[in-house]
Amino acid sequence: MAHVTVKSPDQMQELGRRLAPLLRPGDLVLLTGELGAGKTTLTRGLGEGLGVRGAVTSPTFVIARVHPSLVGGPALVHVDAYRLGGGLDEMEDLDLDVSLPESVVVVEWGEGKVEELSENRLQVVIGRALGSDGVPEDDADDVREVTVTGLGPRWADAGLP
Ligand code: ADP
Ligand code: MG
Repeated sequence: MAHVTVKSPDQMQELGRRLAPLLRPGDLVLLTGELGAGKTTLTRGLGEGLGVRGAVTSPTFVIARVHPSLVGGPALVHVDAYRLGGGLDEMEDLDLDVSLPESVVVVEWGEGKVEELSENRLQVVIGRALGSDGVPEDDADDVREVTVTGLGPRWADAGLP
């Protein structure tokens, strides 16, 4: 497990670029955090680090977008599952199990929806910085606490930074 304090959108994107070299085809990344936490910003950095085509954006109508690699690496499949109901039915239509082996699949709002895809998951939790009283600090609007945890045998010895 790694814990990072991120103080700006640029730093969040940079964290994504730094995490990207850890990722291999077949990796599933689950991003957790409230609206505006920075999940898409982090994914944009992952896409840059992986060298994929197309800027990562918040899809308005699209639930999953495939960004092919420009450098012979894995494609980035970016999923925003916000509008998907619970259960695997709608998830199954995305055929993530088909694309996963040769891609890196990054999912926003995937809690309770994608865990069955793989026991190996990189779990990234993005939260607001809390003051000593446990309440989010008003003067720290841009500060995020990011916790990265590798679940499953894939990540047991992966040496998270
Ligand atoms: P999410 O995908 O989690 O809903 P986005 O990445 O789309 O969030 O948006 C995050 C918003 O918060 C952006 O407008 C960004 O500029 C702003 N922001 C402020 N501070 C940070 C930070 N430290 N990390 C990421 N985004 C931040
Ligand atoms: Mg988003």
